[in-house]
Amino acid sequence: MELSKLKDLTLEGTPYQGEILEAIEAIDTDGLSIQFPIRYEVSVYSLHDVWTLILSVDFEYQTNCSRCLKEMVDRVSVESEMIVAETEEDAKLYHSEDEDEVILWQRRDNFLDELAMSIVVTSLPIQPLCSDDCKGLCPTCGKDLNLGDCTCDNQSIDPRFAALQGLFDEE
Ligand SMILES: [Zn+2]
Ligand SMILES: [Zn+2]
Repeated sequence: MELSKLKDLTLEGTPYQGEILEAIEAIDTDGLSIQFPIRYEVSVYSLHDVWTLILSVDFEYQTNCSRCLKEMVDRVSVESEMIVAETEEDAKLYHSEDEDEVILWQRRDNFLDELAMSIVVTSLPIQPLCSDDCKGLCPTCGKDLNLGDCTCDNQSIDPRFAALQGLFDEE
């Protein structure tokens, strides 16, 4: 793919639409499985002689909630903006002038797929949650507290009192 092709598409108002059918390379996703195909869109804009690429990716992943361990599916939409350099000299130049991420344009066929995939991998959550207020499992009996309370007394003892209790025990 040539950058000029992307430019033409953007000017026509039809961003390039890509689809990643399967994992390009093995990704260590820590028990998390990404659903394929992954769809993405790319547009490029020129600003002060610098090309800016906007890539939006939509994907779903399946995993287990990190608190209650229930199976869950979540959808992520992420948009990433980066400056594109066509030569290494340009890349160095842009790096020194701008804080934004600069990528070196590659003409190989699946370059955009790779770029989209790298955005997917960096947007995966470290601690996925089935919902923001997931109550998790009881540390004592293991009951899913989202389904209701259990009868365990999980009130943690204030560490200062615990220390005092230790003192009394020694007497
Ligand atoms: Zn949960
Ligand atoms: Zn319990």
